[in-house]
Amino acid sequence: NVRVRFAPSPTGPLHIGGVRTALFNYLFAKKHNGTFVLRVEDTDQNRYVEGAEKYIIDALNWCNIPFDEGPNKNEKFGPYRQSERKEIYKQYADQLIASGNAYYAFDTAEELNAHRKDHEAKKKTFIYNWHNRLKLNNSLSLSAEEVQAKLDAGEDYVIRFKSPQDETLHLNDIIRGNISIDTNILDDKVLFKSDGMPTYHLANIVDDHLMEITHVIRGEEWLPSLALHYLLYKAFGWEAPEFAHLPLILKPTGKGKLSKRDGDKLGFPVFPLEWNSPDGEVSRGYKEDGYFADAMINFLAFLGWNPGTEQEIFSLKELVEAFDLKRVNKAGARFDPDKIKWFNHQYMQEQDNDDLAALFKQKHENLKDIDVNYISLVVGLVKERATFVSDFWDLSHYFFQAPESYDEKAYKKAMKEDTRELLSELSNIINTVDDFEVENLTTTVKSWITSKEIGFGKVMMPLRLALVGALQGPDVFDIMYMIGKNQSIERIKNLAT
Ligand code: GLU
Repeated sequence: NVRVRFAPSPTGPLHIGGVRTALFNYLFAKKHNGTFVLRVEDTDQNRYVEGAEKYIIDALNWCNIPFDEGPNKNEKFGPYRQSERKEIYKQYADQLIASGNAYYAFDTAEELNAHRKDHEAKKKTFIYNWHNRLKLNNSLSLSAEEVQAKLDAGEDYVIRFKSPQDETLHLNDIIRGNISIDTNILDDKVLFKSDGMPTYHLANIVDDHLMEITHVIRGEEWLPSLALHYLLYKAFGWEAPEFAHLPLILKPTGKGKLSKRDGDKLGFPVFPLEWNSPDGEVSRGYKEDGYFADAMINFLAFLGWNPGTEQEIFSLKELVEAFDLKRVNKAGARFDPDKIKWFNHQYMQEQDNDDLAALFKQKHENLKDIDVNYISLVVGLVKERATFVSDFWDLSHYFFQAPESYDEKAYKKAMKEDTRELLSELSNIINTVDDFEVENLTTTVKSWITSKEIGFGKVMMPLRLALVGALQGPDVFDIMYMIGKNQSIERIKNLAT
């Protein structure tokens, strides 16, 4: 029974990379009829940010990748906030001390700094492990009585993991294959602090075990922790889950990790939803920028994964079917802001015109009194040129109001000596069309042009200019049909006089 978890720390809004991690967990869970758990890793109270947890949950919901178990939802293995699980962890730290896999350390920050400086002076790096641990201030270097005395006196301590000496670990990652690690480079990481809080490593392993997590799918930045996590499972005598470390998301240039600054510089968001930080800073979100959640998800699925076929457009359901961790790359995935626009444009074409019309109407004062069915028809005509709903007005204003001015270049191009005369004549011809629909209009106008033995452009260009104010837009006959006979004639006459 597959159980995966997304385990963000609520230290701020969920970066697009976090959404990708959540998505891959979601896809893997659904593919195997498993369970997708949200666990909030909030043990580091100094980095806790108000509103971040709510943001994370809102973002997952907006993306349509909700969790099955988590805070306030199916709390079978709850609570799912580590701050509410505080009491659980101490016994596990104690267990590791009892089994000789962990020890108390009393070194102060100043002492550790002094050691670091000392090593630096000798051009060495200070690693807190068997190299040094017997010279430092901990329960391996002190007598049992000394240790007890310190504990009784309430001295600050941490509990450190005792990493083994001279061993080679053989680890496995679903995406990266076999990895060998020399334990001599491992730090004796802190697992627990005297303030009663576990560190990330201890809480993460204990919770993955207690929550019966079968697969850990997370970002590459956690790969360096994998050895310690393996050792912790071994020390507890627990079976480790399988691991998959997702590739980094790279800057649009392909060099270095994507950051918020790249987005600010190039004008794209790096967060799914707008974020209002407690100190008043506002960061843009894909939702508010007009992206469809499905388009963003489709784009994110391709950051590090591909189906091995040419298909690029995938519904969430299709993604679930096609997804395979074995097809995730090791190499970093370049973030291409143009590509996500391309996806949005593709998804725009799939949207229901009525839904788009409702969104469009909401955004524009000028559309307040216009029938939504009419707006829906307009949207149907222009959406193939649109990437965002916010593009609609520029693409379609002439369906709602006569041009107030004419594009200068277009005017020069369309208006020749005899154009005004032609336009007046054309307005009379159009006036004769009683059944004012596209086919009638098209044949009437085209046969008139043919009978005059002039080029089509001589009429069609100024006609478009009269209707639109520029030389863009969909078929002129569609436009005339939409705005109606009187309005069409009025606009033609306007340009003719
Ligand atoms: N709390 C960690 C984070 O913020 C979780 C890492 C993991 O998935 O093990 O990413």
